[in-house]
Amino acid sequence: MSHARPDGRQVDQLRPISFIPHVAPHAAGSVLVSFGNTRVICSATIEEDVPRWMKMQRVEGGWLTAEYSMLPYSTLERKHRDISRGKLDGRSSEIQRLIGRALRAVTDLTKLGQRTIWIDCDVLQADGGTRTASITGGCVALAIALNGLMAKGKLKTFPLKQLVSAVSAGVYQGQPVLDLNYLEDKDASVDFNVVMTESGQFVEVQGSGEEAVFTGDEMNAMLGLAQGGLAEIVALQKRAILAADRPSTNALADLAAAFGR
Ligand code: UDP
Repeated sequence: MSHARPDGRQVDQLRPISFIPHVAPHAAGSVLVSFGNTRVICSATIEEDVPRWMKMQRVEGGWLTAEYSMLPYSTLERKHRDISRGKLDGRSSEIQRLIGRALRAVTDLTKLGQRTIWIDCDVLQADGGTRTASITGGCVALAIALNGLMAKGKLKTFPLKQLVSAVSAGVYQGQPVLDLNYLEDKDASVDFNVVMTESGQFVEVQGSGEEAVFTGDEMNAMLGLAQGGLAEIVALQKRAILAADRPSTNALADLAAAFGR
């Protein structure tokens, strides 16, 4: 049984993915990542210090941590900032820990020196898959920031062992599909978020039935779709990181072009 997807994509087709580097010039590395209408600003900033617990436990090297938030106007109905509620939303907390784990899995922290890298992911527009876009864009921002440290001679060896990226897959109207947008996500009976390294190893798989169950065959189909999608995504990440090296990049012109203006 095969059903049309709301935006007419094939079951194994990603949304258009793009990376616009240097959107936040004060950050050590930044990128605006788009997966279709989902857009996230990802930045990496560097603090020349490590958390207190690392000093107390005399742990060598540095640390990497992530923060995630949805801007109030990223959703159809205004979403209150966490600060106005006085505490971090449970979902945001879960997502930012996932982003941090994914990026630490591919970073050799001992090669960072006594530094903390902050990865900030702020959702500009939410249309499903904000956590997977955050991981994918976060890795590009991290690579740009580390390239900058290398260029300044502040690092001896490159701490990023390989790239990491993420994509969603799910069962929509009985059919396993890749990279769900919000319309699909809200109706999907099963929702998977798959995080993989460039060499094709899993870092994390979050999968759950939403008031539904799923079979082993469906799970394998979703993982297969995600693996195919991630091979495409990693190639785009590499292109974006290389393009970001060229200082002539005009982020404002790129933004205008991306939004068709
Ligand atoms: N969403 C929303 N408001 C919220 C949380 C989610 O509008 O407070 C929408 C948004 O489009 C998001 C989608 O629901 O991308 C799916 O949310 P989920 O928690 O599954 O995370 P995501 O797929 O974004 O990683």
